[in-house]
Amino acid sequence: MVRRELCLVYASLTSALAATSFVGYEGCSQGQTDTINGAYAGAKSIFDIVRDANIDFSKIVAGDFLGPQKWNQGFQDQIQSIIHDVASLNGGTPAQSFSINVRCDDRSNVCSDGKTYAYTKQISGGYDHGSINFCPKWFSQSSLDDAVNAGRRSTDWNYKYNMENYQNAREVTLIHEFLHIDWVIGADPYGSRSSVIDYDIQFYDDNQSGKKVTRTVYGARLAKILATWFDSSQQKPSIGRIIATSDENMTMYMLAAYLITQLGTYPHLPMMNASPPRGKPLPSTPLVDDPFYFNATGGIVANDNFNTNSVGYPDPDYSAEERAPVNVTIDKFIDLVDYDKDYVDAYNIRINPMTKASNFHNQLHDGWITVRTMAQSDIVTQDLECKADGSYTVVFDGWLNYWSADCPNQVASFMWPMEYGDVYLQSDGYLHDAGGNQIGTIKIDC
Ligand SMILES: [Zn+2]
Repeated sequence: MVRRELCLVYASLTSALAATSFVGYEGCSQGQTDTINGAYAGAKSIFDIVRDANIDFSKIVAGDFLGPQKWNQGFQDQIQSIIHDVASLNGGTPAQSFSINVRCDDRSNVCSDGKTYAYTKQISGGYDHGSINFCPKWFSQSSLDDAVNAGRRSTDWNYKYNMENYQNAREVTLIHEFLHIDWVIGADPYGSRSSVIDYDIQFYDDNQSGKKVTRTVYGARLAKILATWFDSSQQKPSIGRIIATSDENMTMYMLAAYLITQLGTYPHLPMMNASPPRGKPLPSTPLVDDPFYFNATGGIVANDNFNTNSVGYPDPDYSAEERAPVNVTIDKFIDLVDYDKDYVDAYNIRINPMTKASNFHNQLHDGWITVRTMAQSDIVTQDLECKADGSYTVVFDGWLNYWSADCPNQVASFMWPMEYGDVYLQSDGYLHDAGGNQIGTIKIDC
């Protein structure tokens, strides 16, 4: 009774910042309780970015995870409002005021498979509105903050701008589980929407006709593949209908929108070929980290060597969840010409960044830079003297190392996205774009 009164006082004090509360914590230690509460607080960082922001469906981040506008038009409102509703759980005004049961006691005996991170039940153990059970594996995931900080510090493009280095965080799994709760998103019987589920995608095996390889859509790579699926059994594929019910596509979109604010640009890796490369030889040997490749006739076939574990992301077992994944067979990709011009331009810059150069302007001190430059038709790495006299150096692939005799012990690597154009190392020691906006947080102290 005392607890209830305290809760009422708390609710009245925080009515302007309503949040859905967690209840139960069955089987959770104090440490686990703190970790759960910390992840919920951390998820708010993502929710704050997407809750009231209108999705620009023409941009590459939306195209990658939500499909092209040409084929998702009728479902844009639904996707937008599901994201708004889940993001209102923590901050904003929830559409439905209620509490979610969280627990660590593995009530449905699922965690023992050793693969499951967390699972959701609509009704469980006396709770009516949804129950999330956290398995030991979930507690071994990193926090979103730790993952983002590692990325911000990295000077390796392939690490920093790869979504796969951020998706395996407790906050991201938590958001994934939230979307499965029918009450949260207003799915039947609480509203008219369909439940948000997991999809299994299948590829034909090139070696054994008829056999298919199946992967549950979890993580950026597989979510991108699902979003580019052209259902060739239909005249007008409706990828929007799939996306509006695909948990991981909306989860990854929200994560990407947040990472843009943390990294300064969209972490575009891993990139998808939206169509088989036209007029070019098709790859005969699949890359080990691609789940598919194109065969000689342009068919999309399974890469038997692909293992989701090999790209740093676990292979979860969602058979534990209340609704079984729905299968789709990936037999054709949506062609690049079906995407908005904004998307195609951004895609082309990223698919081949070495074709685009930036001019580096040194406005700090005379010094030296290590850069990649073009000599004949070869890219070479070389050290160049770099005067602070207003001249510039042509730099390829958005990276350089700077040092100066005037700034002892100050050597720094800068990276910037190619679409930023010219970059300026200004007298404040930071790299800036042509508009004066600071790029990144690396500073040269002189
Ligand atoms: Zn799921």
